[in-house]
Amino acid sequence: MNGESLHALERFELASQHANEVQIACLERILKENGNAEYLQNLGLDGRTDVASFKSCVPVVTHQDLMPYINRIVDGDMSSVLTGKSISRFSISSGTTQGKPKFVPFNNELAKSTMEIFRTSFAFRNRRFPLGKGRALQFIYGSKQLETRGGLKASTATTNVYKSDLFKTTMKDIQSQSISPGQVVFASDFHQSLYCHLLCGLVFSDEIQLISSTFAHSLVNAFRSFELLYQELCEDIRVGHVSTSRVTIPSMRDAVQELLYPNPELADQIYDKCKGLKESNKDWGGVIPAIFPNVRYLYGIMTGSMEPYLNRLRHYARDVPLVCADYGASEGWIGVNISPESPPETASFAVLPNIGFYEFIPLRPRNEEEEVDPIGINDVRIGEEYEVVVTNFAGLYRYRLGDVVKIAGFHNQTPLLKFQFRRNLLLSINVDKTTEKDLQLAIANAAVHLLESPNQIEVIDFTSHADVSSNLGHYVLFWELNDDAVSKEILNRCAKAMDLSLVDIGYVRSRKSNTIGALELRLLRKGTFKKILEHYVGMGAAVSQFKTPRCVGRSHGRVLQILSENVIGNYFSNAYNQSIKK
Ligand code: AMP
Repeated sequence: MNGESLHALERFELASQHANEVQIACLERILKENGNAEYLQNLGLDGRTDVASFKSCVPVVTHQDLMPYINRIVDGDMSSVLTGKSISRFSISSGTTQGKPKFVPFNNELAKSTMEIFRTSFAFRNRRFPLGKGRALQFIYGSKQLETRGGLKASTATTNVYKSDLFKTTMKDIQSQSISPGQVVFASDFHQSLYCHLLCGLVFSDEIQLISSTFAHSLVNAFRSFELLYQELCEDIRVGHVSTSRVTIPSMRDAVQELLYPNPELADQIYDKCKGLKESNKDWGGVIPAIFPNVRYLYGIMTGSMEPYLNRLRHYARDVPLVCADYGASEGWIGVNISPESPPETASFAVLPNIGFYEFIPLRPRNEEEEVDPIGINDVRIGEEYEVVVTNFAGLYRYRLGDVVKIAGFHNQTPLLKFQFRRNLLLSINVDKTTEKDLQLAIANAAVHLLESPNQIEVIDFTSHADVSSNLGHYVLFWELNDDAVSKEILNRCAKAMDLSLVDIGYVRSRKSNTIGALELRLLRKGTFKKILEHYVGMGAAVSQFKTPRCVGRSHGRVLQILSENVIGNYFSNAYNQSIKK
């Protein structure tokens, strides 16, 4: 382990041993640096930097509450609106969960805290899975750089970080060299970028030690695409030329072209392996170790809304370990995965107490509306669920992130957070409150019935909708399968199993009293979720940050339309009481 990593481990250990004090000092620093911000001045903080004054003066807010301030900056107000020094960049959140992207202030302090998380996380990973001098195949896609009305730059947080000078210098020391040139990462067309990422990876397939993406969805998407593209990719390697029909952006083509030379031997080798995988009827199973024999692990965010992709990822990866990346958001990073050997399903994230000030709103039982005050990291209790509230160095004070986490334990004084679900992702018709996690579990239970089919059938992706277009509202679950040859009986059983697996007490009561109708499973044409991804990318979202919206409502107008246009079958669960007796 290099000196940089050792230092990162020591820094983390020390910070976690004194997490409370470090939090207090961190808040003090944030408030000192930004004491002259109009927002804090208006709240009467008056230069005070202690926790008690902060809590009594500054309210807990949502993004919506900050919109008047954020909009002024977006419009070009360069005064100290939210921060001491003016903001000159924005991050755009993926926006797939709420239907529309949010602008979030970004500055060099956020880039610095990102580097601290990356360093710490890499140190823990490298201790468990040391990487040698090999290379990394990273499916990373920068987003378009937009200009706000006031002339400020805005792109995704990933792009902001990757473009920062700090990133370039820091990452050189702590990570295997990424194989794809910058022209591939920052290209304006994601299909072309993906093709080139794959091509670069294949050219150096023996040297690849790490395969990663920001979210697991991009990894699955990459290997699904590889299955369709492998013949063309092999042809490019054979002749030593980047396909002009696939890659039309000259700067990207030129950059990748420099890595190529005619290599029929490698092309044959890869082609034969791919053909073998196709013919073995194992549905591309084990493709990753077959093509990249020296890969040590796959890396990316695999928790929360990414969990449904784990089956497919494991199918591609076989014995190659899946290592879950850290926990953060466009609003800033929060926790680091200090147990990279844990399977993603049990991954938790240790709060890094020196990069932001964190509070936690205890979650009330689902049907109690009243909320309680947030508490600090020293007061959270193991096993309890909380909504995360963030104060960062880029103008967010007591900001509700909208994520719910469970305290899995502590490392020294710092809590280990297990991601649960996004709070606003609720299916609700009347008194019911079904969360993303409830849905995931119900789908996992129901998908077991797909195994009754002779072919290997699985749910590729899913979303949901509360249909209240008739008097009796009901839940609609949209599924895309890898193969549509499933019997009606099996799909009916899946619908019934989902209905019975939804545990929210409000839902169960409403179903029993028939104030919510039978759950409907709508089967989608293959490729529907690709269309949804393309819809978001067309609106400027970055593939790297893409998360399939798990619940679509009126704010997702076009997505709902794409879904409706691609339904190929409807299957209903029985009347609820009847189902229970069976
Ligand atoms: P974005 O809004 O595009 O910046 O995405 C940030 C959101 O992604 C967070 O608020 C979480 O809901 C989700 N997220 C980020 N990291 C993780 C993680 N390690 N596990 C689960 N969800 C995550």
